[in-house]
Amino acid sequence: MTSGGAGTTIQVLEGSETGFATTKFDALLNWARKYSLFQYPFITACCAMEFMAMASPRFDMARFGAEAPRFSPRQSDLLWVVGTISQRQAPALKRIYEQMADPKYVFAFGTCASCGGFYDNYTTLAGIDKVIPVDVYVPGCPPRPEAVIDGLLLLQDKIARGDRTPAIVKPRRDPTVQAGNLVRLGKKSTAT
Ligand code: SF4
Repeated sequence: MTSGGAGTTIQVLEGSETGFATTKFDALLNWARKYSLFQYPFITACCAMEFMAMASPRFDMARFGAEAPRFSPRQSDLLWVVGTISQRQAPALKRIYEQMADPKYVFAFGTCASCGGFYDNYTTLAGIDKVIPVDVYVPGCPPRPEAVIDGLLLLQDKIARGDRTPAIVKPRRDPTVQAGNLVRLGKKSTAT
């Protein structure tokens, strides 16, 4: 018997070449949910450029089962909030969230959606979590597509675990900053 992760146990019967898997119904459902996210893009500002880059074939969102946009919130379960949200847009955003199918997830794409960014004024919403719950915050002005993919993987992991605690994508470490720690081939180590 071996563990297959996410509550799944794989048992191999004696004499059987393929074996079979046992799991809990919730674990199976969450596994299916995390690979079939139907996104509703709510795009308002300059982060849209990176959203379009991320949606391009180069980053291949189809790998994660999250490439298909829906243009009705009733057919969507993943709300992408991309860009600055003004106070006047906030009620519309909340209404769209309420129209989405359950279970639904929210992605704050970029600093403006996460906390209002540098628009510290009376017209701008200081983060979409003032009006709707957020599952994943992706910082950056704008965030790189790689950071957004990190956020999507984080969301998938949370869905598989049934975890609705808000999470923030951490910055990646830049290997060039740590170049001093790299082993340089062809040179003798000067370490004593
Ligand atoms: S986070 Fe930066 S790039 Fe994104 S909408 Fe705000 S100002 Fe524009």
